[in-house]
Amino acid sequence: MASRFEYAPAPESRDIARLRPSYQIFVNGRFRDGSGEAVKTINPADETPLAEIVEAGRSDVDDAVRAARRAFGPWSRLPGRERGKYLFRIARAIQERGRELAVLESLDNGKPIRESRDVDVPTAAAHFFYYAGWADKLGYAGFGPDPQPIGVAGQIIPWNFPLLMAAWKIAPALACGNTVVLKPAETTPLTALVLAEIIAEADLPPGVVNILAGGPDIGQAIVEHAGVDKIAFTGSTDVGKIIQRSLAGSGRRLSLELGGKAANIVFDDAPIDQAVEGIVNGIFFNQGQVCCAGSRLLVQESVADELISSLQRRLGTLRVGDPLDKNTDVGAINSAAQLARIRELTDAGVAEGATRWSPPCALPERGYWFAPTVFTGVSQAHRIAREEIFGPVLSVLTFRTPSEAVDKANNTPYGLSAGVWTEKGSRILSMASRLRAGVVWANTFNRFDPSSPFGGYKESGFGREGGRHGLEAYLAH
Ligand code: NAD
Repeated sequence: MASRFEYAPAPESRDIARLRPSYQIFVNGRFRDGSGEAVKTINPADETPLAEIVEAGRSDVDDAVRAARRAFGPWSRLPGRERGKYLFRIARAIQERGRELAVLESLDNGKPIRESRDVDVPTAAAHFFYYAGWADKLGYAGFGPDPQPIGVAGQIIPWNFPLLMAAWKIAPALACGNTVVLKPAETTPLTALVLAEIIAEADLPPGVVNILAGGPDIGQAIVEHAGVDKIAFTGSTDVGKIIQRSLAGSGRRLSLELGGKAANIVFDDAPIDQAVEGIVNGIFFNQGQVCCAGSRLLVQESVADELISSLQRRLGTLRVGDPLDKNTDVGAINSAAQLARIRELTDAGVAEGATRWSPPCALPERGYWFAPTVFTGVSQAHRIAREEIFGPVLSVLTFRTPSEAVDKANNTPYGLSAGVWTEKGSRILSMASRLRAGVVWANTFNRFDPSSPFGGYKESGFGREGGRHGLEAYLAH
């Protein structure tokens, strides 16, 4: 990539990942081959196979749900402080195996090691620590003096934060006394299966957590299983709707964390350099494969030219390449299918008349890569302004007044997150109250903390994960 400085390669050793030729599913406290197909998980940075997994079949779903049901009674009756001890143990083990998990995540997902090491793994451990602290205080959480767990939770997660999403789902469920059947995404099963090892080593009673690698059919089997009392799903809005339809009228509980099309709103009094860093972090972080990515930049007209020039200068210094290199800013796209979707939508942006720009950027020949891309001259009707791209692609729109910014930001079927950049505290508060988004960041973007609830409005889903609110999704009403 064109840069004023050339950096020597600084790759993290892949040996740290302790990659094995094959991984097994985890049912009733034991590892075993699934009854489904043997599949290879691929390194998206170079398309080489990493390991083989014999995926779960439908009979494994039955076994896992039965094991979770048997484990539920004793687990839910354990005093909260005892459940908390298991969660603390898991949290500490994630920290101890942090380097291994970070390298494994970067290999399987394609995200830069800097992100997996500094964001995904520490935040996953932090979620276990945080909910461990709640386990013996549920009676003080505002859900009545003696809140009860729901039962067996079926949890289905996507590929963009494989370990972190597993932690978001498992930690609050266990703290509240539920048992779990979790399915990672088909392209990123490895860290969830290592988390299963950690759970086994923490001596959790068999059946409390079951982890089934598999594709959409296994997700569907978990959703449809009569022995599952609650579904927690993170993924696309389309699949969320399918799941909602299939649970309708069943009386079973559901929480959905779906897509987003966040607006990052920059006012003319914002510190431009700081805003540029926030925009870069908001959309080029994790290759834009973040549900809450700041994929629409709304900039006040009077500072638009200055901001866009600064942003382009900054993008010229980003390093795209080997996810294991500690200097890499932008890694690989997770799969060929995701890359094809990004290409299709960016081609549509050009066809609809927006202006496309990318910094000079040499992409590796093998693997799934997409250069950071900025579209200017975008109108609200363009597909790149409406549809979730889930790639390192920013659509820039302008506004003149705060009301116009609010109207444009809210003009989307989604409502997961938004950002506001301004020096005025009163403007932050008034914008936050008018934006229909679950999370509104002020003068920052993409910050996560286990104590803070996260979730959407409208087609971004319902229910909250994280914080005290995250307990509610796992407590009977
Ligand atoms: P996806 O919906 O295709 O898959 C998500 C998970 O659902 C995978 O494990 C998949 O195997 C499973 N699945 C697919 N079809 C299913 C079905 N019919 N029944 C049950 N399970 C099924 O999404 P994806 O492409 O893996 O992930 C990207 C999407 O996830 C994006 O739209 C993104 O916005 C969203 N996402 C949202 C959040 C959030 O917190 N709101 C977080 C991360 C990702």
